[in-house]
Amino acid sequence: MSNTAEHGPQAFFRDLRAAFGHTLQHTANAPGIESALQQAWDSFDGNVAIQCEGQPPIACHKGCPSCCTLRVGVLAAEVFMVAAYLRATAKALQGHSIDLMARVRAADAATRGLDEVARVGLNRRCAYIEQGVCLIHRVRPLACRGHASYDKRACVEAAAGRADEVPFSEPHQLVRGLVQSALQAALRGHGLAWGVYEFNHALVLALDDARATTDWLAGGDPLAAAAIDAEQRDAMAAWFDEVASP
Ligand code: SF4
Repeated sequence: MSNTAEHGPQAFFRDLRAAFGHTLQHTANAPGIESALQQAWDSFDGNVAIQCEGQPPIACHKGCPSCCTLRVGVLAAEVFMVAAYLRATAKALQGHSIDLMARVRAADAATRGLDEVARVGLNRRCAYIEQGVCLIHRVRPLACRGHASYDKRACVEAAAGRADEVPFSEPHQLVRGLVQSALQAALRGHGLAWGVYEFNHALVLALDDARATTDWLAGGDPLAAAAIDAEQRDAMAAWFDEVASP
């Protein structure tokens, strides 16, 4: 597969969309979706590493949750992956008096309907933070993976409302955007709902509806109430189609 450095963003997007499409074509079920997400994470990691060569070191590290107060936009595949992870780990975490599902519901009650600016003002930590660590790190969304800073102090100041500017890593943002868009385009090509949803609200919808994953795989949009990209959908679809025909 091409990478962003060798062939440019549009070729990378086309190649990656085709690769996702191949994965979905052969495994259009829940495990197949997991394979596509693993493919997305691997592609993100590999291409960020290439793009970051010669760049300053990233300041992000384990135990720093400064930016984990922002609104997170996720794809349905990511929501179902995290929902499955929460169900699978619930018992073990309850042994440590941690109930992530209850935390997500509380977070949703506090954040539902708030836009990005209001979420910054609310300054509420993500439901998954425990002692500074993300408890769903292994399955965290692409949006979280693409959020990397060169300056920890700037992140802390911004989280406290004392600064507006944070020097985020452009390679992380670029690659995250391309990988997410390519996955969205592939999902669209397979007749699956491909929009962006608010993380807390979408998780609650997925946790409350045992048929949500099945309905989504059958072409439904069980997370529609949590969509946050309605105004951009048509433009995104047009861009997918334009880039598809060079
Ligand atoms: S999912 Fe993890 S990385 Fe993303 S905002 Fe929440 S705690 Fe932070």
